[in-house]
Amino acid sequence: MSFAPTHGRSNKTVFVDAGHGGLDPGVVGTSASGRTVQEKDATLAVATRLMAALRNDGYVVVMARTQDTTVIKLAATDSNYGAITSSGVHRDLAARAACANAAGADVLVSIHFDGFSDPTVGGTETFYDAARPFAAANRKLATSLQAALVARLGVPDRGVWTDDQLAAPTLTISGKTYGHLIELGPPSAGWVDNPSQMPGALVEPLFVTNHSEAQVASDPAGQDKIAQALESGLQKFFSN
Ligand SMILES: [Zn+2]
Repeated sequence: MSFAPTHGRSNKTVFVDAGHGGLDPGVVGTSASGRTVQEKDATLAVATRLMAALRNDGYVVVMARTQDTTVIKLAATDSNYGAITSSGVHRDLAARAACANAAGADVLVSIHFDGFSDPTVGGTETFYDAARPFAAANRKLATSLQAALVARLGVPDRGVWTDDQLAAPTLTISGKTYGHLIELGPPSAGWVDNPSQMPGALVEPLFVTNHSEAQVASDPAGQDKIAQALESGLQKFFSN
């Protein structure tokens, strides 16, 4: 879904991907105040705020989703007892890259939150793909977003990583053979037939499995902070 600028015009299009959605909740945690926090809700809230900020800066913004849904329409075979299947997730991730391509986006930002079994683990990390022809721009984008997030959120800086180092099987599924994020990675026949054609990065600003970070991720003021950081990271990326 495409949104025109509300102020000025920069001739750039930003694809904003709110991770997960619908039957795919992503990571589920609990905030310090005891509220259940689903990754899919926090990503959509941040994406929606980022969209408004970028439109106000003159960008066209294309959203992967604007509601609590998957990007694809799930077929009967894509869910099993109310849970999305891994092939459903795969199709949904591929659809996000295809949407970014169809939009002719100049840049792709995928918003996720992290999870880990140990609730004391927290911090910010950002991923990019190093195997693309535009890998240098990917790295520049990831570095810019990571720096802005760390400056704004003040949680541990876990660094910028290439997507072959990502230890989250839900994002890559057959990641062991493909070894990249579906949204950011290179073509692979039958697995990624329509790879994203623009610089991209996947941000994980906070851990929803960390109670104090889940509090920030689920709080409107915290979501504003994350969106503002992403906005400034993107501005910096485009400005040099
Ligand atoms: Zn995620």
